[in-house]
Amino acid sequence: MTQPIVQARNVHKAYDQLEVLKGIDLDVAPGEVVVMLGPSGSGKSTFLRCINHLESIQQGAILVDGEQMGYRLQGDKLLKLSENAIARQRRKIGMVFQSFNLYPHMTVLQNIIEAPVGIHGESRADATAHAMQLLNRVGLADKAPAYPRQLSGGQQQRVAIARALAIRPKLMLFDEPTSALDPELVGEVLATMRDLAAQGLTMIVVTHEIGFAREAADRVVFMDGGVVVEQGRPGDVLVNPRHPRTQAFLSRFI
Ligand code: ADP
Ligand code: MG
Repeated sequence: MTQPIVQARNVHKAYDQLEVLKGIDLDVAPGEVVVMLGPSGSGKSTFLRCINHLESIQQGAILVDGEQMGYRLQGDKLLKLSENAIARQRRKIGMVFQSFNLYPHMTVLQNIIEAPVGIHGESRADATAHAMQLLNRVGLADKAPAYPRQLSGGQQQRVAIARALAIRPKLMLFDEPTSALDPELVGEVLATMRDLAAQGLTMIVVTHEIGFAREAADRVVFMDGGVVVEQGRPGDVLVNPRHPRTQAFLSRFI
């Protein structure tokens, strides 16, 4: 069997006394698209941040591409990695947030090549060629010289997706990527994400867009209160939810 891109085992996370993740288990296979649904406060964003090791966990383990995030095994001892080593691990993971956070003083092209050139040491020529491919992929090649303020919110988010892809991640994490957009701009971002899904990118997507989950997800994971209460194929979980909490959540969308 091929090694999963993500292996989360019994992940526990608390902020002081507040237990937010109460034993999450999740494997994501290469090329798999997992959509995470669940009410606000159920721990979805925290879980994504733990995958990235932007948050440390108190119990359990998260492996990305076979490596435990934040730690390495020496003999039978688990040692904390240096910040540099953690940064190297994070390069396997692209992240797209609700707020696009493009650098306002840089053009679209500069935004995309910044990390590959500045952090990963790619040549400017290679990074630019790759950036143009990515802009093509998100349908914005003509916007390379534009500044973020000249773009719509949907276009800015598609640039943010291209920027995240520029580091050639093995895994993409999306945290409510369309929640900050005007309704008429949501579709173009979801269409871009559907394309990426169809091209075999491994993705975990937190969203309230049930239509996207139905069409693009290989698996839907429903979280509530820091646990996975139900998961399965969209045609099962979305159509015939078994758990009362999933039923209650989904009933809002019908
Ligand atoms: P979701 O993304 O599903 O809405 P979150 O992961 O953002 O949920 O939040 C889960 C819970 O953790 C919430 O109760 C939230 O208030 C709390 N929380 C999130 N981040 C922090 C933090 N940095 N410090 C303290 N509590 C937090
Ligand atoms: Mg959230």
